Amino acid sequence: MESEHNWHELSQQQVLSEMETTTQGLSENEALARLDTHGLNRLPALPRRGVLLRFVVHFNNILIYVLLGAALITSLLDHWVDTAVILAVVFVNAVIGFAQEGKAEKAMDAIRLMLAPRAAVLRGNQRHTIEGEKLVPGDVVLLEAGDKVPADLRLLKAHGLQVQEAILTGESVAVEKQTDPVDAEAPLGDRSCLAYSGTTITSGQGAGVVVATGAATEIGRISDLLAGVETLTTPLVEQMGTFAKWLALFILAIAALIFAFGLFVQHHEFSELFMAVVGLSVAAIPEGLPAVLTITLAVGVQAMAQRNAIVRRLPAIETLGSVSVICTDKTGTLTRNEMSVASVVMQGHRYTVEGEGYEPLGTIKLEGSPVSPPDHQPLTELARVAALCNDAELKKREDTWTVEGDPMEGALLALSAKAGTDGPEARSQWTRTDIIPFDSRHKFMATLNHNHENHALIAVKGAPEQILSMCKEHRTEEGGTAPLEETYWRKQADNIAAQGQRVLALATKPVVPEHTVLEQSDVEGTLIFLGLVGLIDPPRQEAIAAVAECHGAGIRVKMITGDHVATAKAIGLQIGLQRPEKALTGADIDNLDDTALGMEVLDVDIFARTSPEHKLRLVTALQAHGITVAMTGDGVNDAPALKRADVGIAMGLKGSEAAKEASELVLADDNFASIVAAVREGRTVYDNIKKVISWTLPTNAGEASTIIVALMLGMVLPITPIQILWVNLITAITLGIALAFEPTEENTMHRPPRQRGQPLLTGVLVWHIALVGILFLCGVFGIYTYAIDQQYSLELARTMAMNTLVVMEIFHLFFIRNMYGTSLTWKAVHGTRVVWMAVIVVTAGQFAITYLPPLQRIFITESVPILDGVIIVGIGAALFAIIEIEKQIRIRLSRPAGSSDSLILQK
Ligand code: ATP
Repeated sequence: MESEHNWHELSQQQVLSEMETTTQGLSENEALARLDTHGLNRLPALPRRGVLLRFVVHFNNILIYVLLGAALITSLLDHWVDTAVILAVVFVNAVIGFAQEGKAEKAMDAIRLMLAPRAAVLRGNQRHTIEGEKLVPGDVVLLEAGDKVPADLRLLKAHGLQVQEAILTGESVAVEKQTDPVDAEAPLGDRSCLAYSGTTITSGQGAGVVVATGAATEIGRISDLLAGVETLTTPLVEQMGTFAKWLALFILAIAALIFAFGLFVQHHEFSELFMAVVGLSVAAIPEGLPAVLTITLAVGVQAMAQRNAIVRRLPAIETLGSVSVICTDKTGTLTRNEMSVASVVMQGHRYTVEGEGYEPLGTIKLEGSPVSPPDHQPLTELARVAALCNDAELKKREDTWTVEGDPMEGALLALSAKAGTDGPEARSQWTRTDIIPFDSRHKFMATLNHNHENHALIAVKGAPEQILSMCKEHRTEEGGTAPLEETYWRKQADNIAAQGQRVLALATKPVVPEHTVLEQSDVEGTLIFLGLVGLIDPPRQEAIAAVAECHGAGIRVKMITGDHVATAKAIGLQIGLQRPEKALTGADIDNLDDTALGMEVLDVDIFARTSPEHKLRLVTALQAHGITVAMTGDGVNDAPALKRADVGIAMGLKGSEAAKEASELVLADDNFASIVAAVREGRTVYDNIKKVISWTLPTNAGEASTIIVALMLGMVLPITPIQILWVNLITAITLGIALAFEPTEENTMHRPPRQRGQPLLTGVLVWHIALVGILFLCGVFGIYTYAIDQQYSLELARTMAMNTLVVMEIFHLFFIRNMYGTSLTWKAVHGTRVVWMAVIVVTAGQFAITYLPPLQRIFITESVPILDGVIIVGIGAALFAIIEIEKQIRIRLSRPAGSSDSLILQK
């Protein structure tokens, strides 16, 4: 069982015997044993950088170089205490960066795990869905359009199977696959009986036996190139990172000028001046900002994952906050995708079907009385077709019946069982010889089946309009045929759909036993129409609430479904869409040119009988209005629309791998409510990024201006450089990080979406930075002057000034926490655990440095009298009052008449 074989030149039989397996797959036990020998089917991970190296990298930063230089010079000047504090700052910064990087990496790893692909296999001739990693050589894997091939396979079945192998061959056009051996010399791209791990099925269906897994696969051999690691960043955060770097350089240049000015013009003493300039640099440079922004993102990614929204591309977090239209599928997203057949309409009869879930037991009634299926031969025939044109399996797990495969097909299996023994048994009596798989473009599926009695039949199911166009007769009550009455059946289909049921039509055709290949021409215009089936798929309760939440948040929800227009309208009404009465069908869309579609698209909320191409046109039309669009999808053909949408959202459960790869977000539970949760988190993360910046920059400005003003005026520094270093150290690890963990503000989902491309550093923010910077300056100099006036010692005056600075930072934090509303509510003051922990640590730190004699000696501080302590807190409260009043005035001025929300710091 080695991978060195030329599998492509061997026949299927040879490969199966070589792999010691059969077309029915391995037994569970054998698979387990092989998993032990061959290991997991995963590519070897790239070796991670060592812990030490990862730690040291955090010292690679200009600011750190400046600080290390300063530490060297202070040590040469014998200022040992200063040296130690500077080194502590450097070290703590690196530790925070390191710890946060670890946390962020863990978050990303967890997400990668949640996205682990799954594979459909036959084990003991039963279909199972297992984790792709658990595949072993010899497993028989089932493939369908949209799947990613999970291991190297020798194909056993291929029906219209096309595979895109660009990842291996660079060729982006999909290649046709088949099951016959090919020439031994054939190059990789021509080995058409093999499907390679990592390639994507673009259409058709197939099955193959695993010949290589993990590192032994073709992709495994070249995989070093592929195991790229995504870093935790978004355009906005990157932009801030670059901004912080330029700001650092700018500040260093200013610091150098001030140094020169102080030394040559004002003739300050070198060592004192040098320390002041170092203090200035540390105070002004937002060194912690990039790390805190990364934490904010990591917290957001984790929060979204907890709400079943898995972010594949991080920039989506930002985009989510500005989404103003969500285009969503119906089945499984707005509805539960738990189907059951409720009605069957045949010539002359309308049956109702009873039963629980997928349990293959239940009564079929005709006008209220139970029927005996053997007396209704056409019904039994319909049940047989439903079972034969079907890829699902029903399984009983701990008393409940579940479906392996498509829930709609599961419901049809249950129906076929209820309609008599012929249904499930049909599958053992008939062998499927060929198939035209379901495709959302042609909206039908057909199978060709042979039995042991030398009979052959074609079984077809699909959307009623489609099936009607393929039939020429229908089955009569007596079991004969009569010319098709198309209008009658269309009316019946509309009636079922108007009740919100999904309608499916079934048809059949006997063929001669020699017929073994199913062509499109076999099913065109010659089928016998059997009847219609109505399936219930109830709406999800949480989706109804989520749609309402969207409307409150200025987000319009549009349903784009492949289903019947009447079904879509009925569900649209139940789910609470804004305009459930108006709908466009795929055919309507085809009749509109881009301009006309652009006009319609805003007003219509329901698009029915659409195919994936329509989705692409709809996104494009919406985007032409400058709207940020989120779009869901599951099939391989949805990929272009998902890529085009601003936020492509794939279904984690029923979605294909191709759809997942094209999307920014994957829903672990396929639930519409999870999209809304993601939007809420997206808005929260953006707010928090803004809060972090809005807190950090004014703080830096305030600290720096204190030093600059003192130096320029030739005054004694009101806070010593070493104290500034301390303040930075203690606040960076507490207050600076707290905002990254802020929960969602109450009115977050009552605000309209953020405008796309809105800059972060808005005029209002710049004004806020200036205002708070000036207030900090007044506070610090005010208390300092007051202390000197009171004849306090210089040391005490400085201690008071430093404490005032920290107190003002704390009050500023509480102001920033409620950027959009008022900060003086009980809830706002109450705060979160993280905020209070931060405040407690800072306060404890300040008490320690102010009152503990050893620290007093190091930082040259003195105990502050209680009354003065009260004054210091009072200054913080005054700062809070001033900026809060300023905010409230701004809210009133900027609020358009009638709206209740404010856009503080946002305009
Ligand atoms: P949504 O886009 O909301 O998920 P959908 O699942 O109905 O809707 P499609 O998968 O494109 O969208 O299906 C379109 C129609 O094709 C269905 O309404 C049904 O009539 C028919 N159909 C769906 N699945 C199958 C299938 N496996 N075999 C035959 N016909 C099918």
